[in-house]
Amino acid sequence: MEHPADRAPWQTRIRLGGFESFSRIDWPGRRAATIFLRGCPWRCAYCHNPQLQKRTLDTGIQWDHIAAHLEAGRNELDGVVFSGGEATAERCLPEAIAAIRTLGLGVGLHTNGAYPDRLQTLLPLLDWVGFDLKTDYDHYDALSGAPGSAARVTASAKLLLASGIDHEFRLTWHHEVITEESAQLAASFAQHLGVKRFVLQRYRSEGVGASPLAESSEPPTRLIEHMAALFADFEVRGEICALAPGAS
Ligand code: SF4
Repeated sequence: MEHPADRAPWQTRIRLGGFESFSRIDWPGRRAATIFLRGCPWRCAYCHNPQLQKRTLDTGIQWDHIAAHLEAGRNELDGVVFSGGEATAERCLPEAIAAIRTLGLGVGLHTNGAYPDRLQTLLPLLDWVGFDLKTDYDHYDALSGAPGSAARVTASAKLLLASGIDHEFRLTWHHEVITEESAQLAASFAQHLGVKRFVLQRYRSEGVGASPLAESSEPPTRLIEHMAALFADFEVRGEICALAPGAS
């Protein structure tokens, strides 16, 4: 482990929220570790990592702890995914990505598209992006709780498609958060952009904490059929990317 005096300044500034040493879900088709970063400007009702919304949370996790795990396990991994919170809220992300590259690992990113300017800078550094598309344009700001999020997401999604980087768009279904019509409009937006892989995620109540939402919400068959017809690669998925209890 590095002596604290040997740490680069970004290693002490980066807001680490958690670390999962192995996942086959967070970057589909790849063996990935996941680094969760703190901070998100949005407040979605179904957030699975609400403890990571605030950048001020002190987890006590150090970068050299994560780096040592990755160094030891890199032969079992294809890459590392940065998740959150909203990973692009972290100003030190380019330095962290460069550090992962020195280990010879690929780099993926989960994003909600809240920061198109930052995403544009990051895209050349990435191998894969999981893009959370939440609803249609007219209902975005209400769902995210952030004025202007619809325009930001639209800009980010266009940048991602224009980059040619491998990606997956995913939308979480809960009937109390999004209507069937809004979900269809969001999927149509993605199809018009040229998205090839689209995932409809089942809402999972684990990790959400105290919530007025119903515990389960099965996507309507008609919605599944509509989406399946739009995309060559479509999946309904039950698993979510969430920080496991007790993970460090
Ligand atoms: S964008 Fe993601 S991390 Fe942020 S509040 Fe919504 S679900 Fe949670």
